Amino acid sequence: MDNDMNYGDDYKYIPATSIGSGVGINVLPDLYSHTVQIVNIILVGNNKDDFVLVDAGMPESADEIISVVEERFGSNSRPKAIILTHGHFDHVGALIELVEYWDVSVYAHELELPFLTGEKSYPEPDPSVEGGMVAKLSSMFPNEPVNLGNHVEKLPPDGSVPYMPGFNWVHTPGHTPGHISLYREDDRTLIVGDTFITVKQESLLKVLKQQQEISGPPRYLTPDWKAAKESVIKLQRLNPSVAITGHGYPMSGDLLAESLEKLVHDFDRIAVPDYGEYVNRDEH
Ligand SMILES: [Zn+2]
Ligand SMILES: [Zn+2]
Repeated sequence: MDNDMNYGDDYKYIPATSIGSGVGINVLPDLYSHTVQIVNIILVGNNKDDFVLVDAGMPESADEIISVVEERFGSNSRPKAIILTHGHFDHVGALIELVEYWDVSVYAHELELPFLTGEKSYPEPDPSVEGGMVAKLSSMFPNEPVNLGNHVEKLPPDGSVPYMPGFNWVHTPGHTPGHISLYREDDRTLIVGDTFITVKQESLLKVLKQQQEISGPPRYLTPDWKAAKESVIKLQRLNPSVAITGHGYPMSGDLLAESLEKLVHDFDRIAVPDYGEYVNRDEH
């Protein structure tokens, strides 16, 4: 491993799975979502010389991600860039191996960079949060930052996304300070990250079965619920036709519109936990 990049000291394989693990979905001709254990990676583009990877999976999933890419685009194909929705362990798990293997640039929001260059740790996951078994297991989740050294760059301030023409990044903080979603106005395609998700991520059974249900960001890792709500409202206003979320199956059409409406309307009940370390924090 390059010695200018390293994972946090608490980096480790997490034994968690779902029935979606290893399964890929062709969401659109140029958009493919693949589930690594319990998190989605997304390939955008349909030309083997011109595509990008959004997010970088769970720890120790580099071989899986490389084979997914080569199955879709042919052997020795590599993305033009890796775009990160945010830097949580389940979205950067294979990042260092992938950067080394593909020699590719990584882009993230400016406010996420301290968590990608080893400067700042995320808050500890909150295993006491209201929810299910995954919430309770979350104390084993890594929260120390990956350090990509100078292999990560900030996204252009004009909202454009490198190598993703037609897409703009939208700042959606709350789950993390520099969280982004990616939106293509032409066909109203939304790559959400964890701003909202389509599975109740705290519940082991629901994660295992990937039972579709709109949900706010994963509770055990979300410190700012006020910003999290504003970010969901921001995305609802875009009126997306299809949403590919960081966790759970893609959602589209009326079901998406109705689910988003419900989430915004009932955010405090659906998304915000009744109890937990990060609840009501901004009211002090
Ligand atoms: Zn996350
Ligand atoms: Zn996540």
